[in-house]
Amino acid sequence: MSSIPLMEQYQKVKKRYPEEIVFFRLGDFYEMFYDDAKTASKILEITLTSRYKGDKSVPMAGIPYHSATPYIRKLLKAGYKIAVCEQLEEADNASGKLVERDVIRVITPGTLVEDSLLETQDNNFLAALNITKNKTGLSWVDVSTGVFKVAEGTLQEILTELNRLNPSEYLVPENSVSEFPKIIDRSKTSLSGSLTSFPGWAFDHDSAYKSLTNHFGTAGLGGFGCEDYTAGIGAAGAIIEYLHRTQAEPSSVESSLATSGLKHITRLEPFIRTNHLMIDRSTQSSLELVRTMRGEENNSLLAIMNKTTTGMGARLLKEWILRPLRNIEPINQRLSVVEWFLLSPQKRRIIQKELKNINDIERIVGRLGTGKANPRDMVGLKTTLLSLPAVKKQLAAETENPPLLRNIIEGLDPLPELTDFINKAIVDDPPLAITEGRIIKTGFDAELDKIRSTSREGKQWIARFQSDEIKRTGISSLKVGFNNIFGYYIEITNPHKDKIPADYIRKQTLKNAERYITPQLKDYETQVLHADERANKMEYELFKAIRDKVSKYITALQKVASAIAELDVLLSFAQIAQENNYCKPTLTDETGIKIIEGRHPVIEKVAQVKFIPNDTLLDNEKNRILLITGPNMAGKSTYIRQVALIALMAQMGSFVPAREAEIGIVDRIFTRVGASDELAKGASTFMVEMNETSHILNNATKQSLIILDEVGRGTSTFDGVSIAWAITEYIHDHLGSRTLFATHYHELTELALLLPAVKNYHVEVKEWKTKNGEEIVFLHKIAAGGTDKSYGIQVARLAGLPKSVVERARLILTNLEAQTLNEKDQPRFAPIDAKKITPTDPFQLALFQSKPSPVIKMIKELDLDNLTPLEALAKLQELKDKLKD
Ligand code: ADP
Repeated sequence: MSSIPLMEQYQKVKKRYPEEIVFFRLGDFYEMFYDDAKTASKILEITLTSRYKGDKSVPMAGIPYHSATPYIRKLLKAGYKIAVCEQLEEADNASGKLVERDVIRVITPGTLVEDSLLETQDNNFLAALNITKNKTGLSWVDVSTGVFKVAEGTLQEILTELNRLNPSEYLVPENSVSEFPKIIDRSKTSLSGSLTSFPGWAFDHDSAYKSLTNHFGTAGLGGFGCEDYTAGIGAAGAIIEYLHRTQAEPSSVESSLATSGLKHITRLEPFIRTNHLMIDRSTQSSLELVRTMRGEENNSLLAIMNKTTTGMGARLLKEWILRPLRNIEPINQRLSVVEWFLLSPQKRRIIQKELKNINDIERIVGRLGTGKANPRDMVGLKTTLLSLPAVKKQLAAETENPPLLRNIIEGLDPLPELTDFINKAIVDDPPLAITEGRIIKTGFDAELDKIRSTSREGKQWIARFQSDEIKRTGISSLKVGFNNIFGYYIEITNPHKDKIPADYIRKQTLKNAERYITPQLKDYETQVLHADERANKMEYELFKAIRDKVSKYITALQKVASAIAELDVLLSFAQIAQENNYCKPTLTDETGIKIIEGRHPVIEKVAQVKFIPNDTLLDNEKNRILLITGPNMAGKSTYIRQVALIALMAQMGSFVPAREAEIGIVDRIFTRVGASDELAKGASTFMVEMNETSHILNNATKQSLIILDEVGRGTSTFDGVSIAWAITEYIHDHLGSRTLFATHYHELTELALLLPAVKNYHVEVKEWKTKNGEEIVFLHKIAAGGTDKSYGIQVARLAGLPKSVVERARLILTNLEAQTLNEKDQPRFAPIDAKKITPTDPFQLALFQSKPSPVIKMIKELDLDNLTPLEALAKLQELKDKLKD
């Protein structure tokens, strides 16, 4: 084999895949060359060598083909894609002909199907974005499960959606690829997936439409309810094109990295945003829905709610948390199934135990669709389907089943003809590999059975041969063995050398023994080996045919998978409802929220102390905006978030942590809370805060729920109070959204006097005087009315600030509250001579008023001793007039 053509072959491939790292199969290795080799050797920490010496030297690095997974994972993580170039034919060293090679798949972060590269609990999405003049289209697919959806909306709406999906890869048209990072930056969304540019034509409506109908084999898209989508179709079509390009079509190459086909992508589902409660990125993070603000998965709402048993259930639960419902009917349907399970704990336990036998058939279907399913996947399907009757038996109605449960029962079709087929075809404990036999059951294929019996007979003859030869030679230690080099042999230890029959042919000498063969033994050996080889080949062909036949059930299996997922999540809801003593919420079309003894679902589980429940009343009249004041650490944030979480859980169809809850449907939840997580990105806290607030003021509706935790903190007090005041007025007068506003600015409590729908609440603290000053204890109880103090200094003292700092702060506060002014009539922060200041009773600072009134000044200056009654009356009139202007 001449060396240059091989590199020419490589160059031709590389030219087609300039962006990807090319894995070029050479024997047992995937080799990388030139820059690919340099890059990969650094990332993978493998040795950089060179192919050829001297002038022709080419940088090279390689990995063993059978253990490529960890290397692939590392390269993907580093942001690279991999083009896998396989040998398309067996190497024939004798002919010297160059083996044909081609790329059989491009591995990208968004198109993975192998379990070893995926997280069980998470979907792995590839998304495409098509920004047009009127609308933005979005489509997403999880190739490992077959979920394929399309949506349309404004750019901002779609970016919010994209953010929820958190795709590992997203496609944008070539011409907007440079714009894209700027759009993302402006929109304040954060996307961590890798950005892939794809030719613009694939996003054009007509060609996209054609790609989709070609893929589905349909005349149009009306059957999916997507006919009217325009920008969305562009995005979906681009996805299909991209998948066909990266996944490649069926090929005869047997490679663990090969995929062939996308048979499991059977429909395009329109995603109707208005059916869902919308949660934007900051709400998702500040309500700590899937991870805490510190980035941990533990102690998120998802972690508390997740009692699912299957991967399918876990993924669906995550989807439901990030996309609760907005229509009462489907929510009530879920709630009634949860209630049904709550009333039947015994059934629930049995079903959950059964679900443990269930495999991730959604992912198995993904592998079926891409031609990657292995024999164990078949058995996985079988055991899953076989456990369904036991599950269904538990679901059988004693009383009438709720409609959603009836749907689920119907979905749990055990597909007996499929289980029967797999059962007859595949052994119960097959290997993962499909080329090494031991897959097909006896009785499935007569031809295979015949070959196997030839092999078996040969092996039996060989087994008998040993005992016959022991008898014949009288050597009791004579052994027949097998190795890959000599095949079958007879081994005789040295002390018996002299008894060796004449027909034995010596093959190998060991230290203590010699190995022999006989012509007859070799004949049987050929029979056995030949039969084994033929049987393996045949099993391989049979398995592929079985897999194709099972693939015909993809759509049916997808229905089963989604019924299992839904069942699993609803069981999980019932379990947490029971364990944590939740109540069934009532959903209404009103805009009120009434919660009796509500709790925070996460804090109540993790707090060291007993959680104090609190009530909430929001309505459309006097209780639309609740202003919650109280010191830091009192429990304000916990309280306002708990209200949002209870509403969100209710709209997921879950029971909620409360004694009673009535939730008027919420269309969107907006939150604005501490923005410390943004600091790393270089944005100032205050700027982030104002960005988020303006997003809320521009988008909230009467049906929305707004959670504000300290607005205006990032600037000076007067600035902050003014902004917070104006925002509250705006929400009150223009938006009418239900709002919970936690603030330590007790000055804002005055708003309740001016705005009819604002109500003051405070978190109670107990305080008493000690020789160290005031001590406080947090009672975590919400009560009507505002606070008139901040207690900041007491909290600082609790936190262990040095005593001198606390003392000094107390003095400054007293001074501010006494409103001593400097020469410029501004409040004086610290007295020049501290000792002269005697603490006065703190009285509330009238908002925006820094000078004492002139009337008070006049009264103070009155000389009462020298005033006649008439003069006094005139002075009184004067004072009264003064108050008028
Ligand atoms: P704030 O927002 O007023 O500063 P947080 O809501 O952050 O206060 O609460 C401070 C701590 O108090 C929480 O971490 C929690 O442990 C505890 N806490 C809050 N609310 C309650 C409650 N209702 N019952 C018991 N502990 C609570």
